Amino acid sequence: MMNHPLEAAQHELTKLKKKHALQSSNSEVPEWIDSHCHLDFSVFDEDRACIIDELQRWGCQSVVVPGVYKDQWNNVEKLAQQHPEFVLPAYGLHPYFTAQHLDDDLMALEELLQKAIALHPRNVIALGEIGLDFYYPTSSHRYIDEARQRFLFKEQVSIAKKWNLPLILHARKSHDDICKTLKDRQFTAGGIVHAFTGSAQQAARYIDLGFVLGIGGAVTYDRAKKLRRVVQGLSSLDWVLETDSPDMLPAFESSSRNTPLNSLGVAMTLSTLLQTPLDVILNQTTENVRRVFNITVDHHDAIRRDSE
Ligand SMILES: [Zn+2]
Repeated sequence: MMNHPLEAAQHELTKLKKKHALQSSNSEVPEWIDSHCHLDFSVFDEDRACIIDELQRWGCQSVVVPGVYKDQWNNVEKLAQQHPEFVLPAYGLHPYFTAQHLDDDLMALEELLQKAIALHPRNVIALGEIGLDFYYPTSSHRYIDEARQRFLFKEQVSIAKKWNLPLILHARKSHDDICKTLKDRQFTAGGIVHAFTGSAQQAARYIDLGFVLGIGGAVTYDRAKKLRRVVQGLSSLDWVLETDSPDMLPAFESSSRNTPLNSLGVAMTLSTLLQTPLDVILNQTTENVRRVFNITVDHHDAIRRDSE
């Protein structure tokens, strides 16, 4: 493997494109999806259009952009309207911003979902990102009111159940609590456990509940031995690619900002780890995202027709 997984992936894709052109075969160069990024954040304001151009040049079919707090939903909605074939929106109240969420925001969330779904069932592909964050690495780390987190999480799971929407979950030091709530509420619409770094047993519980695991930058670090072993034990149906851009820098990224293009570097790292060709990884993870979010292949055509 080359030292730089993203460059190695781009090299591989260029080779595949040439091969397909020579054979003029019908089989397509693989498409891929970043199942979790915050492309609406202001750190992308300067060059968002260039980033999207470059992503599409490298076969990125879609990016999933989750909501994190009420005043930000608008940005996600606008971005999705500007790129209806590309940006797949979700809305939710992220645990990190617990202090600023109001009870009324739950009602606003339900209204937004209702309105979006009525216009087109895929104007919202999931409820998220939501969850529980009980990770306090140092005593100076910000404590987030746990009872309040639990309340907001349970309420949002109930809303998702009512609208039959999959979830995008943020889970840190909280896997047991989250699985218990999903079971208690008999939640069956599935979704993605974003940035999963738990154990094999925790992975199995989520998979039993109909979820897939989001694998991103963490797996690119050589020290991530436990996570790598967990991923090696998974079926190819049970995980998807993600970056969490602009956060969660992969080991090979030298700038201070992550971008969805790094999904390819994550995929290349996994290609080496699992000894599976890059195009197989890209195709399978794309299928998995489509399955959990109920995205049919004509999704993009349908949206195009609707906006005509
Ligand atoms: Zn996120």
